[in-house]
Amino acid sequence: MGLLYQRVLIKISGESLLGEREYGIDPPACLRSAREIAQVWEQGLQVSVAIGGGNIFRGLSASKNGIERATADYIGMLATIMNGLALLNALEKAGVEARLMTSLRMDQVAEFYIRQKALEHLKKGRVLVLAGGIGNPYFTSDTAAATRALELNCDVLVKATKVDGVYDKDPVKDASAQLLRQLTHAEVLEKNLSVMDSAAVALLKDNHLPIRVINFFKDGNLRDAMEDPEIGSLIS
Ligand code: UDP
Repeated sequence: MGLLYQRVLIKISGESLLGEREYGIDPPACLRSAREIAQVWEQGLQVSVAIGGGNIFRGLSASKNGIERATADYIGMLATIMNGLALLNALEKAGVEARLMTSLRMDQVAEFYIRQKALEHLKKGRVLVLAGGIGNPYFTSDTAAATRALELNCDVLVKATKVDGVYDKDPVKDASAQLLRQLTHAEVLEKNLSVMDSAAVALLKDNHLPIRVINFFKDGNLRDAMEDPEIGSLIS
């Protein structure tokens, strides 16, 4: 089978770096995630990875416990940058040429995100790790992934999850949940399906960018999804 895409943005959650821990960064889990991404890079695709921070800090939950929301969100963005550094290191260990770009200035540790420079990295075949969300509170790394996928002219946004795709109910809580193979952005929004946050889905809908939702925790599944359209769910 041939490749379905040339340039992809993969959104991975902080959970991908968590392993068996309750909180924080697990080096073997970082390496495992890096190897999955490396396989896509080895296929010859141009790859960006937007990383979340939920394994360390989530702004919304912290704001419910008394930290002002905007401040909590900035802490969350810093968490995504810690993850970005860990993932960059793991990618390098996996033999991948990669660069970390952040939306908050972090001059000593990473490049500041500039679209033109990001495009150059992609054209040179480097995996681009994107951290710091979009640099604004009240957003999530899902919305950042959607924005970057659009401005970097990606063919698709791949949402890497721990389940096989989009379900009509939560498959972890309800065994009767049905996997939905193909659906529209509008259906995701109308039925309030928990795929990505609604701001991200709405942005992708308005700009006609498809989303593939795939299981990232099955070895080789991400790579296979780049060639096999039957894997996971397609939102288009
Ligand atoms: N965040 C933010 N703006 C952004 C991206 C992230 O304020 O553009 C904050 C927000 O508080 C969020 C936290 O960073 O809760 C971690 O990101 P997220 O929850 O999206 O991580 P994931 O669930 O993907 O691990």
